[in-house]
Amino acid sequence: MTQPSRCADCDGELEVGFIPDVSMGAALQTAWHRGVPDDKTILDYLKFGPGVKYDRSQLLPVRAFRCKACGLLRLYANDQTA
Ligand SMILES: [Zn+2]
Repeated sequence: MTQPSRCADCDGELEVGFIPDVSMGAALQTAWHRGVPDDKTILDYLKFGPGVKYDRSQLLPVRAFRCKACGLLRLYANDQTA
């Protein structure tokens, strides 16, 4: 993947980072998933707990680039095989 180095808005320098999903005492890697979220049924909720349905094989890690000058965030979720 080509990494962006300059901000599209102000041409400032970009730094790479990520957006941790902090919950339940753990910090997890934020991921992208194809489609729209689908709420679980009450039976899913009772079996698996709260949240949305997802297919683990569809998850792509999200990388966030932040402009040091203006703070703009630019997100990428590249396929590892691309
Ligand atoms: Zn900028």
